[in-house]
Amino acid sequence: MAGKAERCVWVPGPVIVGAGPSGLAVAACLHDKGVPFLILERSNCIASLWQHKTYDRLSLHLPKKFCELPLMPFPLNLPDYPTKNQFVSYLEAYANKFDIRPEFQRTVVNTEYDHGLGLWRVKAVIREGNYKEEEEEVEYVCRWLVVATGENAEAVLPEIEGMKDFQGLSMHTSLYKSGEMFRDKKVLVIGCGNSGMEVCLDLCNHNALPSLVVRDSVHILPREMLGQSTFGLSMWLLRWLPMSIVDCLLLVLSHFIIGDTSVFGIPRPRLGPLELKSQSGKTPVLDIGTLAQIKSGKIKVRKAVKRLMKHGAEFMDNTYEDFDAVILATGYKSNVPYWLKESDLWEVDEAMKSSFNICWKGQSGLYSVGFTRKGLSGASIDAMKVAEDIEKCWKAEAKLQPMSTFPLN
Ligand SMILES: Cc1cc2nc3c(=O)[nH]c(=O)nc-3n(C[C@H](O)[C@H](O)[C@H](O)COP(=O)(O)OP(=O)(O)OC[C@H]3O[C@@H](n4cnc5c(N)ncnc54)[C@H](O)[C@@H]3O)c2cc1C
Repeated sequence: MAGKAERCVWVPGPVIVGAGPSGLAVAACLHDKGVPFLILERSNCIASLWQHKTYDRLSLHLPKKFCELPLMPFPLNLPDYPTKNQFVSYLEAYANKFDIRPEFQRTVVNTEYDHGLGLWRVKAVIREGNYKEEEEEVEYVCRWLVVATGENAEAVLPEIEGMKDFQGLSMHTSLYKSGEMFRDKKVLVIGCGNSGMEVCLDLCNHNALPSLVVRDSVHILPREMLGQSTFGLSMWLLRWLPMSIVDCLLLVLSHFIIGDTSVFGIPRPRLGPLELKSQSGKTPVLDIGTLAQIKSGKIKVRKAVKRLMKHGAEFMDNTYEDFDAVILATGYKSNVPYWLKESDLWEVDEAMKSSFNICWKGQSGLYSVGFTRKGLSGASIDAMKVAEDIEKCWKAEAKLQPMSTFPLN
């Protein structure tokens, strides 16, 4: 990668990094207010997480009314939990409606605030061909920077002893598409969040033999309770009752509906599901059928892995089992600390080692959308606030001029 940018581009409005739902949401709100913007996206399409890194059977985890982006509801004919393809079609229609045309294959690699100029310098690597030699580095200069690269930008790949020795297939869930290729195979799924649980169910549906590693405690809640979505019911109860009481109600109802999960090797955390989410960002698992397969014995629950070996795994309870494949359902992390320098907004990240609770507004025209661990509804709220704030500054200080390109000496 070249150290110095080969071209410099002045962007009259904000630069938005990332064309996922958060980037699209803020772009639509800016379009609505007549503020120009430029989106830089590393992939070759919008919503690349949804299009490239998720499994085929995925549907929205939360009902569509909690997942729609500002200014455009979901079509009425979609089910309550749209499939990933339906969600992607919605996002494509959204981008068309608001004339959002991201610049694709631009990976932002460094961003600094130039205190002298009072502008952001955003360096991106453009790679349109297959070869490194065809790469070009461009610097975008702008007054406002919106970080919308998501909390799930990079796969978390934990170091597991013996991983290199394991001779079967191993992959992160971001590469898993369907259980088809695992028919009759023994598969170890490490991690029991929503992805790990759903991958196990998918493996069962394809007649594979999955085992699920549950290292810690986890809250599993039914996706629906009393004829309503558990998420919707929780939000409604929180309007009237304190969080600790809502947690108690959720746990009592869950006990009636799905029973005591600790009997199956899945203990619950000490804190209730909502308190845990608000304190640590850890999301409860919404069960869509995996628990029934665990109860029936089709999915085995295993203790933490001590080490992987040539053909299998040894567990913390000193048992050993052969496996054909290992799937790491070990989550994702943000990549912002790698490319955003000198930012007050991400200092929280250093201290807490996570992007949890990052505020939507930093200093010097820096904003973030989609980093409050509140899913798509949180991203939509951020997007509206960010667009409103930028519009105010824009009206006050932007001098409308066409985007220009000039070479750097
Ligand atoms: C399996 C799964 C299911 C989920 N289901 C739900 C659900 O039902 N409801 C819900 O509310 N949330 C759900 N989520 C959370 C979901 O990720 C977010 O709600 C949503 O995708 C966040 O959108 P985003 O735009 O913030 O991030 P992303 O969708 O991750 O988009 C970020 C974009 O930024 C791009 N990017 C990253 N780094 C750079 C860079 N350096 N330069 C340029 N571009 C970059 C990426 O390529 C990507 O396109 C789910 C997540 C997963 C993994």
